[in-house]
Parts: sequence; structure tokens; C-alpha cells
Amino acid sequence: MAHPGESANADWLARSQAAVWHPCTQMRHHAQPDSPAHLPLVPIANGKGAWLYDFAGRRYLDGISSWWTNLFGHANPRINAALREQLEKLEHVMLAGFTHQPVVELSERLAALTGGALGHAFYASDGASATEIALKMSFHYWRNVGRPEKTEFLCLAGGYHGETVGALAVTDVALFKDAYAPLVRHAARVLPSPDARLAEAGETPAAVARRAAADLERHLQEHGTRTAALILEPLVQGAAGMAMHDPEYLRLARILCDHHEVHLICDEIAVGCGRTGTFFAHEQAEIDGQPIRPDLLCLSKGISGGYLPLSIVLCRDVIYEAFLDDSVARAFLHSHSYTGNPLACRAALATLDIFAEDDVLAANRAKARQIAAALAPLAAHPQVRHPRQRGMIAAFDVMTDDPHFSRRFYRAALDHEALIRPIGNTVYWMPPYIVDAGEIAHLGAATEKALASALA
Ligand SMILES: *Cc1c(COP(=O)(O)O)cnc(C)c1O
Repeated sequence: MAHPGESANADWLARSQAAVWHPCTQMRHHAQPDSPAHLPLVPIANGKGAWLYDFAGRRYLDGISSWWTNLFGHANPRINAALREQLEKLEHVMLAGFTHQPVVELSERLAALTGGALGHAFYASDGASATEIALKMSFHYWRNVGRPEKTEFLCLAGGYHGETVGALAVTDVALFKDAYAPLVRHAARVLPSPDARLAEAGETPAAVARRAAADLERHLQEHGTRTAALILEPLVQGAAGMAMHDPEYLRLARILCDHHEVHLICDEIAVGCGRTGTFFAHEQAEIDGQPIRPDLLCLSKGISGGYLPLSIVLCRDVIYEAFLDDSVARAFLHSHSYTGNPLACRAALATLDIFAEDDVLAANRAKARQIAAALAPLAAHPQVRHPRQRGMIAAFDVMTDDPHFSRRFYRAALDHEALIRPIGNTVYWMPPYIVDAGEIAHLGAATEKALASALA
């Protein structure tokens, strides 16, 4: 007898395929079960902790935190309670001309987390909008201070900053960008990535970082006066396939940007909120014993605990102050309907409370060691290259010329009760921080089995 939930699974799957256009998906891959390119569409009935469940009770360990958003598990009791309380008070109010407790408290707490360096917070709803806001703020700042020639942006090879038309200008992922090339602004210059995998024989990750920084320096010597900002993902370039680099690059980039009067925009949409071991990834680079600070910092994904769409751009007060004037045209006239939504801000405050109350960064250091232990046997696989880890992100590349590897692996992992969605030939884990030792072991075992069956 089939589980009664199986008919609900089948029903939601069919209705979704008929009515929903799913993101980042060739919809045909959902519709052809016999093709090697087939991607099963998975109906989810509920979630709890690190697990997602379908209508028949089949379960999947959320090994990638539902696209890197979920930090403290699904249906987290503390975030749920905070949202219920907020729901009874205020679900939304426009943020132009009005303010409210959650947005004020969140702005204050985020500023404090930057040691007071980034004193103002601007709000939007998704990561790509945060990128657009940071680029516009940088450009407009230079205009307001009498440097209108600073119109160019720099980004890194493999950098990903979102997929709206403006954000694509600084995104260097061909699969997302090429089709829209005629729409995309060309002023962004792509510089070599400090990706440690690019090491030549005998080169350390720090040496790769210095080599990439030398390219940045050459570029700025020639074009610095026309450059508004450098945007990068500190420590881990996520969508490029978890490309990791040494903090030395950030240290040098900070020094070079200061020297050439160029803003440093840290896109911590994926790597912020403790993912790499520190609350912000950029804190792992230091100058004179102090963490470096960007001029503009983008946050999203994990900041609301994976509950609600929210993004934030934090900026230095000197940038904020350059917009203060009697003229409206010198103001930052940017807005989104749900800017500063109270429910989303409340979810973010509950998330920050968990960080403080549970000393999450310390607890994650122990979990990162367990993740390293689970990664070790996979690193010995003859087709595995570049096993790597930074805090709560672990990844490796698989040597295969099968163009369907990522989909085969994904399907096989689902069969072994794990949601693991490789990027090309890069398999990675980015689990919620509440995973326990048993769940980390489950992730390791599911990966081992999925790898065997995907390569069979
Ligand atoms: C996901 C991501 C974005 C885009 O965020 P969306 O909410 O998907 O628009 C931008 N930058 C980085 C580094 C990201 O990982």
C-alpha cells in the first residue's frame, strides 16, 4: 500500500509544474523523468530543525540551508515566538516618514557589530537589491563630493552579486550573464580572483592573494581616479563554486582602496552572519591588530534566519553625511515597498539574539571540526580535488566530464535523505548551525553514497 501522502506529493508536484515557474531551473528538466538531466521537483509539507519533510513523511537533511538562508533550523521555536509577538503589534508600515522599534534596534545592533564603523543601515528585500543600492550609493557619493568622474566598478572573476540587470554588471558567472550581455553595463572591470585553487606549484594561498592584489594595484594605478568601488565576496566566492581565498587579499584590497580613494564593498550576503567563523567574513583580515572594515557592507540571506526576505546595506557615516543637503536631488532617492519590514526585522533581531545567547560562533568552531572530520574520507576519493573548508562551509570538486553530474548527484543525495545541490562539479555543504554530530555524519554518509552512484 502506498503511503496516503504519496497522492498529495503527486498532486502538488503536478500542480506546481503546471502553474509555477521555478527559479534557476530549466523547467523541462522537471518534466522528463527518464532523462539523465531530470531534476525531481520535491513537494515539501513541513520543516523542523535541519530537516525538510514531504507529504509522505520522506525526509531530507537541509545540507545547504535552503539556498544559504537558514541558520537555526526550520520552525525555530525562538524565531517563531518573536514573529508571533510582532504579528500582533505591527506587520508593516512604510519606512519613508515613519519608523518602528524593530528597524531601529536592528540598525543599532548591526552598527555595533561593526565596532561602530558602519553607522547607518539602508533596507531592501533581497540580495540583488542590496548590491544595486551599494553601487548607486558609491557612485552618488562620489558625485555629491565633486568627483563625478568616478563611475567605474571593479569586481572579481567568478564574483556573484545577484541577477538583476544592475547587479549582473558586477557578476562574473557566464551562465547567468551571457544571455543578457547586451543589457548589461560594461563599466565593470573583472579582475583576477585570489581563488586559492589557482596556486602555482609551491605557491601558498597567501601568495596567490598577493599575486591577485598586484593586479588590483596595477589596475588602480591606471584607472583609480575613475573607479568608484571594488565589490567582492570576502573569503568565499559562493556561486562561483565555493572558491576560497586567503584573508591577505582583503587586507591588501583595503589598503589599495584607501590609497586610491575607492570604496570597498563587501558583499556578505552569503558569507556574513557567522558562516565563515567570524560574524562578518571581513573581520578575518586585520591591519594593526584591528579587523578591516568595508565602506559599504551588504547583508541578506541568513540575517533573517531564513524566514523572510530582507537585505541591508550598512555604510560609513562619511558616506551617509555626503547626502545631507537642502537639495532633494543630493538625497538617496531609492526605495522598495517593503523597505524595513517590521516582521523581517524582528526575525533578524531574534536571529541576533540566538547568536548572543548561545555563543553561536564558539559552538560553530566545534561543529566546523566535526565537518572537517566528515570531509576527510571524501577527500581521499580518487576523483575528488581541492577539498576545502572555511567555518561552516565545506566543498570539493569532482573530476568528471559527465555534463549531468550535478543533477545525478542531487538526485542520488535526495535518495539518501539529503538536500545537496552541487554547483557544476563542486559539491558543498552549508548546513544550518543547529546540525548535531549525528546529522553531520549523515551528511557525510549521504555524500559518499551519492558520489558513488553519480559516478557509477
Ligand atoms: C545570493 C547572493 C546574492 C543575491 O541575493 P538574492 O537575494 O538572491 O538576490 C548576492 N550576492 C551574493 C554573494 C549572494 O550569495
